Amino acid sequence: MTRGEYQCETETHVLMFPLPAQGHVNCMLQLAELLVLSDVHVTFLNTEHVHHRLLRFADVPSRLAAYPTLHFETFSDGLPSDDPRHGDNLGEHIKQVNLTALPQLREICMEDSGKPRFSCIVGDGIFGRLTYELGQELGIPVVYFRTVSACSFWAYFCAPRLLECNELPIRGEDDMDRMITSIPGMENLVRCRDLPSFFRGTHNGNLPLEPVVFETHQSLRGQALILNTFEDLEGPVLSKIRLHFPRLYALGPLHAHLTSRKAAKTMSSEEKPAASFISSLWEVDRSCMTWLDAQPPKSVIYVSFGSITTISRDMLTEIWYGLVNSKKRFLWVIRPDMVAEQDGKDLPLELVEGTKERGCMVGWAPQQDVLAHAAIGGFMTHSGWNSTLEGVVASVPMICWPYFADQQINSRYVSEVWKIGLDMKDTCDRKVVEKMVNDVMEERREEFEKSTQAMANLAKTSVREGGSSYSDFDRLVEFLKLLGTRQKQS
Ligand code: UDP
Repeated sequence: MTRGEYQCETETHVLMFPLPAQGHVNCMLQLAELLVLSDVHVTFLNTEHVHHRLLRFADVPSRLAAYPTLHFETFSDGLPSDDPRHGDNLGEHIKQVNLTALPQLREICMEDSGKPRFSCIVGDGIFGRLTYELGQELGIPVVYFRTVSACSFWAYFCAPRLLECNELPIRGEDDMDRMITSIPGMENLVRCRDLPSFFRGTHNGNLPLEPVVFETHQSLRGQALILNTFEDLEGPVLSKIRLHFPRLYALGPLHAHLTSRKAAKTMSSEEKPAASFISSLWEVDRSCMTWLDAQPPKSVIYVSFGSITTISRDMLTEIWYGLVNSKKRFLWVIRPDMVAEQDGKDLPLELVEGTKERGCMVGWAPQQDVLAHAAIGGFMTHSGWNSTLEGVVASVPMICWPYFADQQINSRYVSEVWKIGLDMKDTCDRKVVEKMVNDVMEERREEFEKSTQAMANLAKTSVREGGSSYSDFDRLVEFLKLLGTRQKQS
């Protein structure tokens, strides 16, 4: 699509702009779809690399056909096209985008007339400064969408306070179980090891904390803050955040919110049910759904570590033994780029046999469909925020094995606050894996069935008419439309 090819019917035209990674693109696309369903005109901006993958593996043409007021545009992330853009290089990737994007975005934002054609930018909060500079230069208001959990956002926000109170830095491995006391609302809950991984310093491929905290504080300069969470899940933390961000919209779980709004729209009109679109950056292998169809109810543990996690060969082996020794059926997503090094050794026979009998492995699964399948009884996850919310909505107990970023604190909340799973962070031992799989699937199954069902009900209620996320979304649309009117008048 070239600029000027379409006319904006409405005066509310939002530019959306995610960090180029699967989790961010997923929930930003969900929000985009919700907005176009509410008569907001959206231009969705991807890096060329992400867009190319969406064109290959997702439903871009059918999405465009369904929504005439949704458009895609692209810009270069500054990396060569053959750069693998592995998750481990995410820090470099973000740096590159920050260095190269502004002139390109500026051009995209200007109409042929030389006037801004957007009434608002809904930018990824992790690009806080970049988005703010763009908005300032062009006189376009900025609303930040931070795609992580409220608890991790709040921990980043409070980092300067932790430094002042001498609770940071973390002084090595021996210090990991020290309780953090000066994050309001998290007293007696979060240990050093439960803080987002960037608090651990720059070892083990971690990004430095400073830029993340800096970008988090940039959100204060926006007109509003959007989070993909809901009151009944993170109410206490949201109330702390609201003291600094009075215009806060908690709209999650966005994937369930979208399903709910689409269903309501279908019921209230003669339209046929709206399709749900794939947003994958990898080729989805649906063969696992046929395999799941042949398994008894709640008999399978689904194992997936998201789109960025990489693991060593040793970790792979420990988890594999744990799964096989648990004697439970398992469905495991192993992305082609997930195992950091290959040792070329033959697999032990017991793993080959155990997998043949009870396992299924794919490179990329239709995760939401998998989690909703009757055969699934547990979810071993890296605790990425999208995966966590998908697990919550599907009412599946989780075994959390966080890799990086917000995942360390998400897993703490899963196990200690919401009590819908177990936290396996900082260990990777076949015996622990085996025990946790058996706990979740058998020993503590009833207990987890109650807690996960209760939380899933709250999640679904929040995105139905009258629910907190539903109402927050209506308020957001009203606010975006007000910004549109103001822009037009100025
Ligand atoms: N996902 C998927 N198929 C897979 C693995 C993951 O569709 O085989 C999706 C998953 O449903 C989630 C997203 O990829 O929406 C991963 O986002 P998350 O925030 O959980 O983790 P990240 O990939 O950012 O670490």
